[in-house]
Amino acid sequence: MMPDYDVLVVGSGISGLCASLEAVNAGARVLLVDSEEELGGSSRLSTGMIMGAGTRFQKQRGIDDSPEALYRHYMTLNQWKVQQSVAKTLCYEVGPSIEWLNDIGVEILDVYFSGDELVPRGHVTHGGAAIIEVLAKAVRGERRIDVALSRRVNRLLVEDDRVVGVAVGDDEVRASATVLATGGIGANRDLMATYLPAGLAVGHWYWYLGAESSRGDAMLLGRQVGAQIVGTNRGQFTIRPNFGRYPDTYFPGWLVIVNQLGRRFYDEMSPYSVAQVIYASQPPGGIWAIFDEESKRESQPGMTKAHKKVNIPGETEEDWAEPTIDAMVERGLVHVASSLERLAALINVPEKNLLGTVRRYNRHVGEGCDADYLKEASHLRPVATPPFYATELRPYMLGLTCVGPRIDERARVIAEDSDPIPGLWAAGECCGGVLGDIYAGSGNSLANCLTFGRIAGRSAAGEALRS
Ligand SMILES: Cc1cc2nc3c(=O)[nH]c(=O)nc-3n(C[C@H](O)[C@H](O)[C@H](O)COP(=O)(O)OP(=O)(O)OC[C@H]3O[C@@H](n4cnc5c(N)ncnc54)[C@H](O)[C@@H]3O)c2cc1C
Repeated sequence: MMPDYDVLVVGSGISGLCASLEAVNAGARVLLVDSEEELGGSSRLSTGMIMGAGTRFQKQRGIDDSPEALYRHYMTLNQWKVQQSVAKTLCYEVGPSIEWLNDIGVEILDVYFSGDELVPRGHVTHGGAAIIEVLAKAVRGERRIDVALSRRVNRLLVEDDRVVGVAVGDDEVRASATVLATGGIGANRDLMATYLPAGLAVGHWYWYLGAESSRGDAMLLGRQVGAQIVGTNRGQFTIRPNFGRYPDTYFPGWLVIVNQLGRRFYDEMSPYSVAQVIYASQPPGGIWAIFDEESKRESQPGMTKAHKKVNIPGETEEDWAEPTIDAMVERGLVHVASSLERLAALINVPEKNLLGTVRRYNRHVGEGCDADYLKEASHLRPVATPPFYATELRPYMLGLTCVGPRIDERARVIAEDSDPIPGLWAAGECCGGVLGDIYAGSGNSLANCLTFGRIAGRSAAGEALRS
């Protein structure tokens, strides 16, 4: 039977929109399907930061960088636990992809430090919604792309072991190539329990920041045709106090953070991307942010940004300001005690250890150098003025997941038997294996969506037009 389209793209976030545009650029006739009433998925909600190396935007700012440097950093950071071919493609192709995005109208406002990199790599845009507007306008301007909204694909059509289209209930559409770009699994508790159980260990604190459409449908569709699922237990969780729904990612420098043994274990101002794995390696029990009255008093609304190492553009949270903290004391979410001894008892931390940690920390503050974890000297404050405060921190704010069908460097979905599944591609957050255990910094996910979305579109169109 003749296909209705050359390429069918399922999902209209940044991955799916990029795939559609590249497929049509390659000469394909495209159908873009989305389950929701509007385009954009989690991409629309995102900050719009994109990690990339060797771009003209870096060069314009005198930043000397290269795809190879990004690749080496990426592999080392992830302890080589990501597939080289895929990671290398990501690191080499993301720079040109950011430039492509700019060529079609997405403004790059700045390049800043977005993780643990040696040179700035976070490309700042006006945000995910602005990127979606540009991409959606380009898609709507293409006569050879049809868009179908409010159509949740729930089945792949398979003939002779080849994916030949998709179905929404009894409604079937045939295509020579199908690209899955359905986003993550964060909104699907059942899939989370199976593939990211560690994420649910935070109990009722669990908060998924992304779109409700992140139901892991690529996982379900991929499993129908025997796709390998990789990336189990990978997701980007930010560590936060239980103060409410503040999507804040960095801590102010005046916090002293200790584990259940009452010991410090890292520079409290570290990037949120690396903090996640440091927390996971701590002994059982809670993680506690400790501070004193003076630090609280001095942290007034409008001043919290100045106390953080990095401020994500657009974030203006005031969760660590005195009025919020006082409100949390009222709600019992911040413990308060007249002495450190009493505070230690309240949070069940060995008194001797906590006193020792604070004494050592205060000595380092007096000397103007955090000799243990090298926190920036300008942010050091003693924990000396009673009352003293403690609040528990947990990695509960989920930004994205990294588990799903395995893809190769051409974004083809790989089957259990290790061969590509004929007719099936995937891109973006719905895939596993591109992002590793450690989030490389703000922009790692969109780098993946943009790069592999484009590759999937080109690769799928190429094969569809040859068939
Ligand atoms: C608040 C927030 C801020 C973020 N900021 C950044 C950032 O600055 N930089 C960064 O790199 N990452 C960021 N992320 C993560 C990043 O935004 C996402 O990982 C990325 O946008 C995912 O894009 P995607 O195209 O893969 O999926 P999505 O954008 O989620 O798109 C998937 C689409 O598929 C559709 N869909 C799902 N199932 C079906 C189905 N069965 N049939 C049809 N359609 C379906 C959905 O409706 C949706 O439109 C952020 C995330 C959040 C939540």
